[in-house]
Amino acid sequence: MSKNNIDEDKYEGVCYICRRTESQVDKIIKISQELTICSDCLQKSFDTINNGKNPYLSAMGIQDIPNKQKIKKKQEKAKDEEEGVEQDEEIKFKDIPAPHRIKEQLDDYIIGQDHAKKVISVAVYNHYKRITAKVNEDVEIEKSNLLMIGPTGSGKTYIVRTLAKILDLPLAITDATALTEAGYIGDDVESVLSKLLQAADNSVEKAERGIIFIDEIDKIAKKLNTNSRDVSGESVQQGLLKLLEGANIEVPVGATSKNAMVPLTTINTSNILFICAGAFPDLEKTIKSRLDKQSLIGFKSSNKDKLEDKDEDNILKHVKVSDLREYGMVPEFIGRLPIIFTLEALDKDMLIQVLCEPKNAIIRQYKKLLELDEVDLQFEEGALDAIAAKAFDKKIGARALRSILEEIMLDIMYEIPKDDNIGRVIMTEDYILGKGVPIIETRRKRMEA
Ligand code: ADP
Repeated sequence: MSKNNIDEDKYEGVCYICRRTESQVDKIIKISQELTICSDCLQKSFDTINNGKNPYLSAMGIQDIPNKQKIKKKQEKAKDEEEGVEQDEEIKFKDIPAPHRIKEQLDDYIIGQDHAKKVISVAVYNHYKRITAKVNEDVEIEKSNLLMIGPTGSGKTYIVRTLAKILDLPLAITDATALTEAGYIGDDVESVLSKLLQAADNSVEKAERGIIFIDEIDKIAKKLNTNSRDVSGESVQQGLLKLLEGANIEVPVGATSKNAMVPLTTINTSNILFICAGAFPDLEKTIKSRLDKQSLIGFKSSNKDKLEDKDEDNILKHVKVSDLREYGMVPEFIGRLPIIFTLEALDKDMLIQVLCEPKNAIIRQYKKLLELDEVDLQFEEGALDAIAAKAFDKKIGARALRSILEEIMLDIMYEIPKDDNIGRVIMTEDYILGKGVPIIETRRKRMEA
């Protein structure tokens, strides 16, 4: 007997939503002691929820989760292995090319910087060897994060980008100047992990073996002679320490800062390769004065000799940890970047090579563009020299090349499609120097030639 003192069994069930009785509907479903709903109304309720248009849910603040905030499921290793399923996210040691192969591929894109390419190829190879090595082995190979020192436009970012592409690894590139101590305006250091997660298609497993590139690391040097709190310098170095070393870090998914609406996930950074880079202007002075001092004192006088008969401009490669410390890098921070190497500034000849030789060299790109208009683009040797000289004067390395080329190619790209008769354009030195015009040949003449 129910609370209303009637024998429920003798009565037809009623849908609480549409009020139809058991005999009028397909089926009545008992949701609770008192609540019964017909199958049609139940279906309609589900449909409304699935459409995401349910006003009650949105009033409660429950909303659809955007795709960028969804985390990929972890693969069930044991089960998959049993079933012989290939684990697409897992790196196999055999997939990592030997260092000389990695360097060969880098050579296709990067001009010069032989030493840097060699160091990075070996470091990356060893890093992934370490990751894929079986755990519990007697010798644990230590993590080898890298620090690249080299002038602007010498290819620091480009090497890392190319490397990530060759090895098909997720890569996050971040600028140290954008980072601040947690709680201050700017991105927290954890935001670099959010970026990596995004680059790894929200797969935590993939991100945990990715590469994080932090540029402009010299800008977070400890500020000397300051009394105010250094929230974007030394504190950022301190904040990065645990990331570099390897720790479990809570990371917002699909956003760069933690807030109530953003889901969090945990990323372990022990197998993430950190590559820091910076131009360290004025570091040369520190190195030079150290070397001079050493030779003055008398011991290690060979250092001075080395410096004199070798390249005075490439002083950077004599860098030592003590110089970086003097520059304002915290010892613990430098200690976590055990592999330090330098890149050289590109000279004029190297700039010409950058223009013409890499697989995706800028001149090749322009040639391809004009080929589509059936026009052959050529550069006189003097023109290449002049472009390189202009770029060299700007002192921003290879970065200057694209903007110079864009400027000189603009008129050509604008004029050529106007005239179907043009078959060849030869860029002259005079044109680059603003003293003349390019040589234009007609299609007929090109054919005859
Ligand atoms: P930075 O050293 O300041 O990080 P980048 O690596 O960003 O400089 O270089 C800027 C651009 O210049 C690259 O995108 C690349 O096209 C070109 N570049 C720089 N260095 C080289 C190089 N050694 N070989 C080929 N291209 C280079």
